[in-house]
Amino acid sequence: MRTHEKLFIGGEWVTPAGTNTIDVISPHSEELVGRVPEGTEVDIDRAVAAARDAFDHGEWSRMDPAERAAIVQNFSNVYAAQMMEMAAIVTEEMGSPITFSQLAQSPAPWLMLNAFLQIAAEYPWEERRAGVLGGDVIVRHEGVGVVGAIVPWNVPQFVTMSKLAPALLAGCSIVIKPSPETPLDAFFMAQLLEEAGVPKGVVSIVPAGREVGEHLVRHPGVDKIAFTGSTAAGRKIASICGEQLKRCSLELGGKSAAIILDDADLGATIEGLKFASLMNNGQACVAQTRILASKERYSEVVDALSAMVGGLAVGDPSDPATEVGPLVAERQQERVEKYIALGQEEGAKVVVGGNGRPAGLDKGWYVQPTVFSGVTNDMRIAQEEIFGPVLAVIPYDDVDDAVNIANDSEYGLAGSVWTADIDLGLDIARRVRTGTYGINQYTMDFIAPFGGYKGSGIGREFGREGLEHYLELKSIVPPAGS
Ligand code: NAD
Repeated sequence: MRTHEKLFIGGEWVTPAGTNTIDVISPHSEELVGRVPEGTEVDIDRAVAAARDAFDHGEWSRMDPAERAAIVQNFSNVYAAQMMEMAAIVTEEMGSPITFSQLAQSPAPWLMLNAFLQIAAEYPWEERRAGVLGGDVIVRHEGVGVVGAIVPWNVPQFVTMSKLAPALLAGCSIVIKPSPETPLDAFFMAQLLEEAGVPKGVVSIVPAGREVGEHLVRHPGVDKIAFTGSTAAGRKIASICGEQLKRCSLELGGKSAAIILDDADLGATIEGLKFASLMNNGQACVAQTRILASKERYSEVVDALSAMVGGLAVGDPSDPATEVGPLVAERQQERVEKYIALGQEEGAKVVVGGNGRPAGLDKGWYVQPTVFSGVTNDMRIAQEEIFGPVLAVIPYDDVDDAVNIANDSEYGLAGSVWTADIDLGLDIARRVRTGTYGINQYTMDFIAPFGGYKGSGIGREFGREGLEHYLELKSIVPPAGS
């Protein structure tokens, strides 16, 4: 049982303004595994005031970028030593299989942090350009100010780091609002930031629900909102930021398509889709949940996919043999079960899985990994984000049809093509309107931008482009000849 009685506000552990607490329940055992204070609007006000003071009057925003980077490097070193503990915490609070957590819930955020350190070391924080009017112009990149970061529960460290690392390196201060499902990893991160010597005022962590999150979004002391979550919440947040002309970046939902071409090595493809489509119990914004197979190979693909999905080891996420764990919460289990019923009502066929508890599990928020065949792209199970281990196999006529189906989505976050012909794969990658794409795999590299087209978001994270969302530009024209 992990218990916290204080909130991390302005880099200090302080008594919360309210008395409500958040109970963290294990999605596997349904037992209480942690309890933390629930942040209130008053706590957000205190956190923003501390962040404002640190940015407007403190040393962090004025420090030389290299000095800041040295402290962020300390954080990286401290984090590296605790990655396995961090992975275990995330698995306990939200049910990621431990093998996934030991890859993506803490090592990946650490690699991301290091990529941002490298990008910041090479970044032209202040450049001098020869102007067209005779003199020079100085172009400065300055921290955007106070950042409000709103984080979902599915990859909490990954998403937090994608905002914290560039914010720190840019000299911003940041108020992080974790989801109520995953406050424990966030508080562990607070301890690591403290140990690394990040100055007071610069980071606050206030777990709370959406109303308190919205208070952070509306807060006049916040200069920029960095949000990751559902498209519905993203629309609301963008509208508030629009009214206030507040900077805002949004990483939202997805319904990505994996296109299997006829020349693909089916064995390797199915093995690759185990990760690309089902990672994190299917609770991944980038999950390739629409599987596009040609009419010629359709039944072969459905059979091979169903054999793989039917053979997945479902159970205790802390067991290294587990491939699919529980969903984060009972409401998520119910949501996925509703989609499984809906798919059948729409006329699709459950080939493997379906509703009902997976065998041998009498508690926990589990669903059976499920494959639907006979899916057309206009069905809701092909258009809406289910956020669980549910795959829809959709037939296509030819490559053009496959690309059209992939693009026929409100989303545009990720995608992949599986083929022996890499040039054709590259051609398809150029035609699909998504922010990231994989050929014979799906992965992302922290040196390159990540984000969505269309309803999947606005702006990019990672890479130099990700850092630039935390910067304002200033042009200074000195006297000619100086
Ligand atoms: P959610 O939108 O319900 O909540 C996300 C976070 O936003 C939570 O902290 C929540 O408390 C807060 N929130 C919700 N409404 C808010 C509002 N009006 N104002 C301020 N804060 C608000 O999403 P979720 O169920 O926690 O997460 C799953 C969603 O996140 C999926 O749609 C998934 O695709 C998306 N996601 C996207 C990415 C990406 O990088 N594109 C990464 C991970 C998850």
